[in-house]
Amino acid sequence: MAEKQAYVREVQDLIDEGIPEDVAVQVYQFLVERFERAHHKPEVKDFRAELSELHKSERRYFRDCVDDWLSDMPFPIELTWREVKFKPNRISRCEICSDYFYDVSRNGRKVTCYKGSYCEHEYEVRRKRPGTVIDPIYKRKVNEVSVDMAPDKSDKRGNAALTEMERAAWEDEQDYGIPDPDMFDKLR
Ligand SMILES: [Zn+2]
Repeated sequence: MAEKQAYVREVQDLIDEGIPEDVAVQVYQFLVERFERAHHKPEVKDFRAELSELHKSERRYFRDCVDDWLSDMPFPIELTWREVKFKPNRISRCEICSDYFYDVSRNGRKVTCYKGSYCEHEYEVRRKRPGTVIDPIYKRKVNEVSVDMAPDKSDKRGNAALTEMERAAWEDEQDYGIPDPDMFDKLR
């Protein structure tokens, strides 16, 4: 059976060690979050550069951070910097929520984070709409060609049609997946 090469090496290694797949992915997301608390930079390239620099010239400190944070989590086996090889250059920014995440994909082209499926879903929804992903044009499909956008107060039918159209559009916008309330639930 051919091995499915879905993940970068450092994630696949954890899976091979017996860590469940989703946990192996979230371990790296967790470290991004911790590094962000300790060394936040508003620009992704600066954040990567800062951590790369620490990784290179403050190796001891970098490893201690990783070990320290990993020890907070009850993994089925002990994990340290030796098993969890955090690579600063894999840090990316989610196109939907703008949070930093660790891209575990083989091709390094993931555009959304790993917090539940909300961002992934929302990205797909926006991608199919006209306009850019960041600033989509919410196109309303109106079957009734006769909807008056500013009906007279006395125009009951016109007002009802407009209300109905706005309700339908509102419902469209509510139509997304529910984000995972806590991405580390599985680790506790
Ligand atoms: Zn996101």
